[in-house]
Amino acid sequence: MATNSKHPETVVLHAGYRSDPATNAVAVPIYQTTSFQFNSTQHAANLFALAELGNIYSRIGNPTCDVLEQRVAALEGGVAALALGSGQAASLFAVQNICHAGDNFVASTDIYGGTWNLFANTMKTMGIECRFVDPADPEAFRRATDARTRCYYAETLPNPKLAVFPIAQVAKIGRELGIPLIMDNTAAPVLCRPFDHGAAIVLHSTTKYIGGHGTSIGGILVDGGNFDWEKHKDRFPMLNTPDPSYHGAVWTQATKPMGPVAYIIKARVTLLRDVGAPMSPFNAFMFIQGLETLPLRMRVHCDNAIAVAKHLAKNPKIAKVIHPSLMTGEAKKRADQHLSRGYGALLGFELKGGADAGRKFIDNLKMFYHVANIGDARSLAIHPASTTHSQLSAEEQAQTGVTPGYVRLSIGLEHIDDILADLDQALAAT
Ligand code: PLP
Repeated sequence: MATNSKHPETVVLHAGYRSDPATNAVAVPIYQTTSFQFNSTQHAANLFALAELGNIYSRIGNPTCDVLEQRVAALEGGVAALALGSGQAASLFAVQNICHAGDNFVASTDIYGGTWNLFANTMKTMGIECRFVDPADPEAFRRATDARTRCYYAETLPNPKLAVFPIAQVAKIGRELGIPLIMDNTAAPVLCRPFDHGAAIVLHSTTKYIGGHGTSIGGILVDGGNFDWEKHKDRFPMLNTPDPSYHGAVWTQATKPMGPVAYIIKARVTLLRDVGAPMSPFNAFMFIQGLETLPLRMRVHCDNAIAVAKHLAKNPKIAKVIHPSLMTGEAKKRADQHLSRGYGALLGFELKGGADAGRKFIDNLKMFYHVANIGDARSLAIHPASTTHSQLSAEEQAQTGVTPGYVRLSIGLEHIDDILADLDQALAAT
């Protein structure tokens, strides 16, 4: 029996799976198979007609991925999920599922650079316009909305600024206008549940904290089941008019017997079927292992990050430490409103010595890894001005929150004494 618990510590171990129906195995088996035999021609016809749900072909669904999907959906408080090959695929699917050529959507300027490229350039080639607005002013989302706007998109805890997105405020504006808010919750799993604040869709790059050990690339899309697509028929023709790619199915009607899952079923049986970016069963197994200890790990990640923030704030070589725990005013209010279980483990600081000091600091780290990643069990560091943001002008860098001396840390699970010692000796060398 799966759990009814609402506690994340229990959900990640028990939701959606008790034991393997074929073997009674307690660990989730890796169903490394492309296809699943049909019991009869009637069974096959029912599966294709969505009259019955079941396994057909692993591009569209797989039992190992299914357990991960059920667990992440339960953790986020959603109704169903779709595992994908990467976080990037999840971001694309999230928008493309309801937006086609000629439509637009509004995104926060504070998003991961890879997502920015996808939205500003690749989606433009598909005829989909992304309108970027500053999340410091939630009303900017309303101002950018018109009759062809299909969704809002943002990240819960975007780096480098680490200013928590005003989820509740923007979701409220969206619900007034009939626009769903899609939240990338990659940096704050367990810490924030965007559905509790009015978001309609959540996604993760599972590559980061959910995997937790830096072994696998993956993404997941979660449907909150809380948005009335039918009420806003004119805004969502892709869910409310016959779909020629699926013998004229109207998704809000065809999925009614299954619950409020029109969005996520359509993403699976049309986009995933056609584009083909599934998560591999092996990677789903790795993410299930990561998920089992996620709440425990997030607690230690957050405790370590607070200790680092406090410690660095005392260092005379540092001009500013950026972490939600140290923020004041509106930024702190938003952090406290949305992050109920910790301020996260991403942290930035600005060295008074500028770019030169930033490079020296990174080159002198002994334990921290110098990588362009976040959310690993190990502590990670990067100097954005000379790496991830080096193609931007100084002015553009400043707009994104990157100053020449800015260093980004992703605080890991090592003993706090060892983390502080490595930071101190690298700072001494700057
Ligand atoms: N979203 C965020 C917040 C990220 O940091 C990343 C990757 O760094 C992605 C999405 C993309 O995920 P992936 O690398 O799994 O495609």
